[in-house]
Amino acid sequence: MRFDRDVPVVVIGSGQAGLAVSYYLRRFDLVAGQDFVVLDRGPDAGGAWQHRWPSLRLGSAHRVHDLPGMAELDLSFDTAARDVPARDIVADYYRRYEEHFQLHVERPVTVRSVVNSGADLVVHTDRGSIGTRFVVNATGTWGAPFIPHYPGVMDFAGRHLHTADYVSAEDFRDKNVIVVGGGTSAIGFMLELEGVASGLTWVARRPIDWLDSEQLDVEGAAEAVAAQDRAARAGQALPSIVSGTGVPKTRRIAAGIHRGLLVAKPMFSVLEPGGARWADGSVVPADAIIWATGFRPELRHLAPLKLREAAGGVTVGSGASWTDPRIFLAGYGPQASTIGASRAGRTIARQIMALL
Ligand code: FAD
Repeated sequence: MRFDRDVPVVVIGSGQAGLAVSYYLRRFDLVAGQDFVVLDRGPDAGGAWQHRWPSLRLGSAHRVHDLPGMAELDLSFDTAARDVPARDIVADYYRRYEEHFQLHVERPVTVRSVVNSGADLVVHTDRGSIGTRFVVNATGTWGAPFIPHYPGVMDFAGRHLHTADYVSAEDFRDKNVIVVGGGTSAIGFMLELEGVASGLTWVARRPIDWLDSEQLDVEGAAEAVAAQDRAARAGQALPSIVSGTGVPKTRRIAAGIHRGLLVAKPMFSVLEPGGARWADGSVVPADAIIWATGFRPELRHLAPLKLREAAGGVTVGSGASWTDPRIFLAGYGPQASTIGASRAGRTIARQIMALL
């Protein structure tokens, strides 16, 4: 079989995780475009951030950590403007980072599948195939939105949308809206839609674990990351991060709780054409349901490698697949935050250098 080209390492994805790995590969003197390539299907720099809604601001709930080496460019997310859309700042900083460290990200290139070819691998894309020895999968979760199934979901006559589809509160002016989910995206939507939607109801699968502080509690966050790590090492489906960390009460959120806006109801039991019905018979009319119910790792293109375990996940430790030593998963499980993704860079690049 002939490949369009051969490159020792292929990095799929140029979000925080893919860029951090690429930065360390460069630090180990690998040359981008020759020793490794970075492919991304997005039209521009910015990873998933470029697709997020314009009203989302940096630091509205969690901190966005800097990429390794970013200080060299005199850039830091900690000092970035808070009145500019997060997607614009992240895209701008990532673009400058890619240029400065000469990462030569190839985009838009969509990876369709990764398959075995003897001892090596072939990465099939919409722009040709690449033969390689190692794949770093850093594809995040944005492309795999998760919506749980509820009875009557197909009967609901209004609009269903997921966090990934949300554009602006104005789309819901004078509508009755139900927001589903117990995380910071759901809370952000409730705050934005107040005074715009005519009816606004918040529902969550379990009671919200409000933290007393304005920031994530360090121990709670460490335990949530450890739970992700245990699941990844056991090849299990990953637990929800927010159920492990709790939700920090920023001043804006605390005020929302105080005025009765941020009070979640338990989940409805069935959807009907005009709204949702609870087990006690109460009904809330709805024109739209926003499912802020999270994402799953986007791994469809790796299906031919059969990494998926019966327990529902992929067995990963320190960013490496334990099923296939040619595959690394950056930003997966315990690395699925901007700080985790940044740390993944060094861990994964070191392992690859030892194998090359
Ligand atoms: P992504 O940024 O998703 O990058 C993945 C890249 O892979 C994308 O550029 C995509 O185009 C590319 N890709 C995917 N599939 C393919 C394919 N088949 N072929 C080619 N390219 C492909 N974390 C924080 O630490 N702080 C926050 O404040 C925060 N806020 C968040 C807000 C929201 C609404 C969400 C959903 C998440 C938030 N996170 C936050 C989590 C955070 O986004 C991630 O941890 C981090 O940015 C993810 O980086 P990543 O590189 O793993 O993925």
